Amino acid sequence: MKTLDDLLAEGVTGRRVLLRADLNVPLDGDRITDDGRVRASVPTITKLVEAGARVVITAHLGRPKGEPDPKFFLAPVAARLSELLGAEVAMATDVVGESAKAVVGALTDGHVALLENIRFDPRETSKDDAERGALADELAALVGADGAFVSDGFGVVHRKQASVYDVAKLLPRYAGDLVLAEIEVLRKLTDAPERPYVVVLGGAKPSDKIGVIKNLLTKVDRLLIGGGMAYTFLKSQGLEVGKSLLQEDQIQTVRDLLAEAEEREVEVCLPVDVVVAKDFAADAEHETVPTSAMPADQEGMDIGPVTRELFAVRLADAKTVFWNGPLGVFEFPAFAEGTNAVAKTLIDSKAFSVVGGGDSAAAVRQAGLPEDGFSHISTGGGASLEFLEGKELPGISVLED
Ligand code: ADP
Ligand code: MG
Repeated sequence: MKTLDDLLAEGVTGRRVLLRADLNVPLDGDRITDDGRVRASVPTITKLVEAGARVVITAHLGRPKGEPDPKFFLAPVAARLSELLGAEVAMATDVVGESAKAVVGALTDGHVALLENIRFDPRETSKDDAERGALADELAALVGADGAFVSDGFGVVHRKQASVYDVAKLLPRYAGDLVLAEIEVLRKLTDAPERPYVVVLGGAKPSDKIGVIKNLLTKVDRLLIGGGMAYTFLKSQGLEVGKSLLQEDQIQTVRDLLAEAEEREVEVCLPVDVVVAKDFAADAEHETVPTSAMPADQEGMDIGPVTRELFAVRLADAKTVFWNGPLGVFEFPAFAEGTNAVAKTLIDSKAFSVVGGGDSAAAVRQAGLPEDGFSHISTGGGASLEFLEGKELPGISVLED
């Protein structure tokens, strides 16, 4: 796999370099609530700028439905990036259209342009190779015949998408510094992790993450499950989960997973108490109940104090820990305690600890906890999980051939 340093050694002065970055930050209106991913993208951009490249960044924000949507304009990101770089970032108002061509055409050496949200173009995430290929052609054409592609959006390397995968096949391709750093750390977790190896899973996407668990069962010693996904597990045990996040069609799968875990002697810890609320709101009235007594009209928002203690105990002897997904709705301070407790336990632990996931990392920063208390904070949740599962990541393998 060729790297950014290889590209710099070949020389980039005056060349246009297409950079896929991960700038997918959480927003409150047009205010960035956590700029971690923007900051993580700066080192690679800076190297290219200092080498005199004309840097054309493509990135996505949120999940627009394949058409322009003002909620997902990249303007706030361009503004923050300009501040961090200390130089203006020229923003195109479209993805690969007239504005993109004009902005890229006007770029001079050592300057940066940002194309509008790549997911405004439905071809980016199309399942049709030809459709994605057509968008990739247009992206490649923007940087021209002596252009190059640098892949640095670690959070999207598990996606077979036009700006991640297809375009890499059309240009000389290089792994950026962030992607390299992420891979190096995750390899430590996959190549002979020190045991006990404990994985903590939370977050909001049960369907995504339930699939991951099956693979992890062959690799880890212990799984601690909280967050929105926990309720499908609790339901599979015959418990009432009220209005909590639930993936009905996964209940049987989850039951099978628990049986398999037992067979493999992987310990699975589910919440034993939860904080429930009548509404999904920051100021919702709430109480702590055992998971065996969840009221039918309430929603599970966080793990309770007994579970926090249980998780701390089950993490105490860990030598290796991977954590993905907040244990509760941490955006509301009243429901951030479970997430903060796990974060603090890991910070105090001597284990090799890796946090993966945009929201998990944001939760750590929101709580004002020291980021260097962890061995590594990954910018990619899904990507890091798939890496740990041993899956092939299309955005990485395409750089290898
Ligand atoms: P990451 O970005 O770290 O991979 P996810 O995107 O999977 O994590 O999940 C983060 C989201 O999960 C947060 O917005 C959080 O509010 C939500 N979440 C956690 N616990 C619950 C819960 N009990 N009910 C609903 N949402 C939850
Ligand atoms: Mg997330």
